[in-house]
Amino acid sequence: MAATVAERKLLVDGEWVETGEWQEVRSPYSGDVVGRHPVADAALAGRAVDAAARALAEPLPAHRRAAILDAVAHLLEERQEDLAQTICAEAGKPLKAARVEASRAVSTYTTAASVARTLAGEVVPMDASEAGTGKLAFTIREPIGIVGAISPFNFPANLVAHKIAPALAAGCPVVLKPASQTPLSALFLAELEHEAGLPAGWLNVLVGPASVIGDVLVEDERVKMITFTGSSGVGWDLRARAAKKKVSLELGNSTPVLVEADTDLEDAATRLAQHAFSFAGQSCISVQRIYVRRAAYDDFVARFVPKVEALRVGDPASDETDVGPVIDEGSKERIASWIAEAKQAGATELAGGEEDGLLRPTVLGDVTPDMKVSCQEVFGPVCTVTPYDTLEEALELANGTEFGLQAGIFTGSVDTALAAARALEFGGVVVNEAPTFRADQMPYGGIKASGNTKEGPAYTVREMTEERLVVLSER
Ligand code: NAP
Repeated sequence: MAATVAERKLLVDGEWVETGEWQEVRSPYSGDVVGRHPVADAALAGRAVDAAARALAEPLPAHRRAAILDAVAHLLEERQEDLAQTICAEAGKPLKAARVEASRAVSTYTTAASVARTLAGEVVPMDASEAGTGKLAFTIREPIGIVGAISPFNFPANLVAHKIAPALAAGCPVVLKPASQTPLSALFLAELEHEAGLPAGWLNVLVGPASVIGDVLVEDERVKMITFTGSSGVGWDLRARAAKKKVSLELGNSTPVLVEADTDLEDAATRLAQHAFSFAGQSCISVQRIYVRRAAYDDFVARFVPKVEALRVGDPASDETDVGPVIDEGSKERIASWIAEAKQAGATELAGGEEDGLLRPTVLGDVTPDMKVSCQEVFGPVCTVTPYDTLEEALELANGTEFGLQAGIFTGSVDTALAAARALEFGGVVVNEAPTFRADQMPYGGIKASGNTKEGPAYTVREMTEERLVVLSER
């Protein structure tokens, strides 16, 4: 059956815009055209910033911003299935995972609405020092200004929602550039914001050449903040080029998890088999490196590998599919070459291969820390299993990466969990759940090469507002 082709225009200054040049969006699974959109250029990006500047000059009160966010959440709740189908079609994300993403986007909007309603500064206890006596002081939170938002392909709806919903909560107009491979979900959300009554200029969505639109966001001084989610190389380069702006970065990881012998191995194996391979490992916190206490290693592997082999690989549009394609042929070739390189250097393939032209979930044993599958972000359906003898050794292995987004540990001991939470150099540590876990109100973000910020509407709004102190002198 031929795929439905969605035609979506760009949103600039409250208008749906055509540019005369159209770009097709293709399914990563079948190669079929699933949508098309106009292509933006630098001039249109400039017009989008002009529109955002006009919006900023006419601030919306918090109650209106919150009401719009609630209205989007409501519309999205009604159209979740349409959004899930769009995500599945353009990203090749299995429908069950796409449905979870669509429903999480509802929660991102709902949370942002409540943040908009409760956004406030704080009272400063001025008479706590002699210098402050006779003064009353408080802070207010002012919108930082126009936000340039750049998002990746792997959560094409919810990671867009994590930028545009908090921006509206904070009172900041946005110019959004979604990933070229997956622009349709972002334009779908833009349609809902438009329908929910968002005034012109508050959200502008441009799809086009990354460096052209990126350069406008970097160079236009009216854009005060760039919020970027994507790969480390692009992110840190943007930050270096936009030295005078706030640049918040949500980047990659090489996610480790420790499995202690005192844990429920069946439970750990089940959760990890599911989460190392959801969306074919293309999540920034996909489980990549599993370290298992040597006493439990054989038992864990004997439970884990059959569960991985039982995952269904195939058409993402099927309700039964667990693992679909990676985003493009180039990514598939890179991942396959990393697996081959590891095997050549001595790694053992405990599960893997290809099916239906797709990479099967791959488990590698006998790996060393210097192999690419260990020390770099695979961003594909691959994980490693490695035994350890002491907790210290495991923590050192887990920390032995430039990344620091999220890590995990399975253990029956609170003491061990707390020791690991303190020692793991990551933005988040998840205990007794796969470290792929994220709920949208959580403060989520990395340290080291993984980034410099936290997302989650309340935390993003902090980043997108500036704290201003007001001091009143009592006379
Ligand atoms: P990517 O290649 O870095 O692309 C991300 C976005 O940046 C896309 O919109 C891309 O546009 C744009 N871009 C590329 N070059 C640019 C430039 N010179 N100037 C401005 N924008 C530019 O990343 P991806 O492959 O889409 O996503 C995968 C990466 O994102 C992984 O490393 C993953 O770990 C990370 N990620 C992190 C998080 C987190 O929350 N920490 C969440 C999800 C993903 P085009 O698509 O047009 O090239």
